[in-house]
Amino acid sequence: MRLLIVEDNPDLAQAIAQAFAVHDIRCDLAANAGDAELLIQTTDYAALILDLGLPDEDGLVLLQRLRGNRRTMPVIVVTARGESEMRIKGLDVGADDYVVKPFLFAELHARLNAILRRQSGYADTVLRVANLALDPRLREVTIDGRPFELSAREIELLELLMRRSGHVVPKRVLEDQLFGSGDALGSNAVEVYVHRLRRKLEELAEVKVQTVRGIGYMLSCA
Ligand code: CA
Repeated sequence: MRLLIVEDNPDLAQAIAQAFAVHDIRCDLAANAGDAELLIQTTDYAALILDLGLPDEDGLVLLQRLRGNRRTMPVIVVTARGESEMRIKGLDVGADDYVVKPFLFAELHARLNAILRRQSGYADTVLRVANLALDPRLREVTIDGRPFELSAREIELLELLMRRSGHVVPKRVLEDQLFGSGDALGSNAVEVYVHRLRRKLEELAEVKVQTVRGIGYMLSCA
């Protein structure tokens, strides 16, 4: 899962990103509204953590514009302005929740989890394809009900493929989700992970990961 943190205080942004990293959640950082908007156009974020006091624009104006453009990803507003009037205004223009600075990371994390559960409805659902099952919440994979060992990134790749099983997942989407749009790892990294995942699965799982030349990858029943 990837988040975008829009925050002009680099120390705070880094601290939040590091705390999320412990939970296997990657974060991109934007220090102003302009950068945030560019990233949102090219990347599919699970949610936005949005500071209101940004150097180039009020966070609420950015939020309003995003909603106007039918961007529906969950948004948690971070505000130093304690006034309840501002908070309500934030929710009015389409924030899903807010935290007031200073806040504990645990509070932000809990609010994010609550929103994701509420919004997606599938966050807690175990994904199944043939004899393969993946629990997105526990990050656990089983084959025929028995635990199956995969690395955190392999699980993430498998989840993306399982959510769209029977359909081709474009390689670019996998790159964005797994490594981040600004990452210089190169497109080869996705191939390496797919290769590894395929080798691990092939013995026991009744699924196959097909390469669709020039487009991406597809998971289907073997
Ligand atoms: Ca700020």
